[in-house]
Amino acid sequence: MYDAIVVGTGAGGGTAMKILCEAGLKVCAINSGPRTDPENDYRNHRQVYDLKYRGYGDPLRLKGKAHQEPYSVEESEYSEGRDLFEHDIAYSNAPGTDWYWKRCKATGGKANFWGRSSARFGDIDFKAADLDGVGENWPVDYAEISPWFSKAERYMGVASTIQNRPSNPDGEYLPPMAFRCIDYIIQKGAEKIGVPYLPDRCAQLTTDHNHHPACHYCGNCSRGCDVGSFFSPTWFTIPEAEATKNLTLLTNSLVRSVLVDESGTAKGVAYVDRATRKEVEVYAKVVVLAASCVETAHIMLNSKSHHWPTGIANSSGQLGRNLCEHLYGSPGYGYLPRLLGQPATPDNIADSTVAWMPRWQNLKNPREEKFVRGYSVYMGGGCGEFPGYYGQIEGFGPGFKRDLKRYYATTIGALIQAPTLPSPTNYVDIDPEKKDTFGIPQLRFHFQWGPNELLMWEHSKQVMIDLFKAMGGELWGVDDQPNRPGTSLHETGVCRFGNDSKTSVTNKWAQTHDVPNLYICDASIFPNCTDKTTTMPIVAFTMRTCDHMLNNFKKGVHKRA
Ligand SMILES: Cc1cc2nc3c(=O)[nH]c(=O)nc-3n(C[C@H](O)[C@H](O)[C@H](O)COP(=O)(O)OP(=O)(O)OC[C@H]3O[C@@H](n4cnc5c(N)ncnc54)[C@H](O)[C@@H]3O)c2cc1C
Ligand code: SF4
Repeated sequence: MYDAIVVGTGAGGGTAMKILCEAGLKVCAINSGPRTDPENDYRNHRQVYDLKYRGYGDPLRLKGKAHQEPYSVEESEYSEGRDLFEHDIAYSNAPGTDWYWKRCKATGGKANFWGRSSARFGDIDFKAADLDGVGENWPVDYAEISPWFSKAERYMGVASTIQNRPSNPDGEYLPPMAFRCIDYIIQKGAEKIGVPYLPDRCAQLTTDHNHHPACHYCGNCSRGCDVGSFFSPTWFTIPEAEATKNLTLLTNSLVRSVLVDESGTAKGVAYVDRATRKEVEVYAKVVVLAASCVETAHIMLNSKSHHWPTGIANSSGQLGRNLCEHLYGSPGYGYLPRLLGQPATPDNIADSTVAWMPRWQNLKNPREEKFVRGYSVYMGGGCGEFPGYYGQIEGFGPGFKRDLKRYYATTIGALIQAPTLPSPTNYVDIDPEKKDTFGIPQLRFHFQWGPNELLMWEHSKQVMIDLFKAMGGELWGVDDQPNRPGTSLHETGVCRFGNDSKTSVTNKWAQTHDVPNLYICDASIFPNCTDKTTTMPIVAFTMRTCDHMLNNFKKGVHKRA
């Protein structure tokens, strides 16, 4: 019997267990995969030719696995290690859905490899429904959450500048990363067409911070950092929780459901020990689910009892609903002829989010464009270790190699980040027929892009035509279609929070309306996507939720074990 169980040790779960342990609670954290061990699991600072499969990994490594699709950049030969990614647990796609569910099952979760873009949400996001009449407002406003964003930024270490943008409230920042050569050129071009191009808010340490060393700009972030110079639970929250001696961390333990007592209150969880395949029960006064958005809904939908016949805390019927995602894809890529023949510079410094185009649409008038809300764009390019533009150049053999070298350091590409709106047809449920290898009913996705985000996609293609012209670039092409849903890893919804228990799963503190000792600490509570990424907000909202929970312990709402 523990004071609290925390399911998942990622950005949300790791933060929750650190705060609860530091407050003196006895916490049992349960994680579905093995413990991440950077020294042995990460192979960064090696060249691809030092690796047996040139960085791509053993092509047979997924043979016999339930989910055989390899994941992108973050799952490569550099982090293949000890089975850090989830391929054993299958999931289903309803007809017409093509969701790509990438899961890191190791401790620390996806934030071991994340892109670190960390903008604040603002009232333009929280009160978007008031502005454009679509969907619902969030149950919090900026004034309420802003101190928690500050707390999260101060803890994580986020580099940026003060920008005074209406779509992007400013925060508390470390010094920004220096612009690359391409950033100055893009910024000039963007200025000409009235588009902002500014330092991103990036959770990468430009100075020593909270006992973590400043980044040495090796550009390996998506393969895991070997020194902890960006926020990840592996380097930040997990060791801090362990230092309190209040933590019991169970690994390779896959939570199946939340257990309830005779009154329908949470009393613990049931998990499968992957090594023995046995089911084990563990008990606590409070249960925190932080298994990452859709997996949290999966666990809840599988937690059926006579109290909760459609899944725990689902009296609203909203559990699994309102699945949102960022539409990703390249609306334009090409090169800058003026850089041909220039020497390469070591500017592969962040491996993604040095600068971006924060939302600039629908700011003065929420209905200025054909779509509502807005999107942001990241620009990549420069002197990466690997010529990622190889697929954009035709040919083979010596001619191909010559062209690759000719364009090195000149190429740039855009990535759109366009939020979807909640739709009644986008949701997750339990597949009535399929079970995973441990006999757990599988999660099933129902998801299609909607007209609003597809209008943003079209809009961004025209912006890229204008931008390339304005900066004297040559556009090579554009993605035929957006990336598959799920690619962005910024899914939200499925356990949305709100003030009305009839239309939301949790209250504004992420405490389920129906089961007061069941809390949620991931992006599943966010009612919709914004044009910003989710991880810093997950940390901030988790800090606030834990503060509320600890007050409830103090007030006697929750009893200690
Ligand atoms: C390459 C890449 C780039 C990204 N770029 C950005 C970015 O720039 N900005 C940004 O904000 N976000 C970015 N993200 C997304 C970001 O990593 C996630 O938003 C964030 O890590 C989610 O944290 P989480 O704790 O909710 O989930 P996760 O990190 O997925 O952690 C969930 C944890 O729960 C455990 N778990 C899952 N199911 C169970 C179960 N049934 N039982 C027990 N344990 C379970 C898992 O093992 C895992 O440890 C990126 C991600 C990747 C991989
Ligand atoms: S660039 Fe910095 S943060 Fe990224 S892996 Fe290298 S040292 Fe770590």
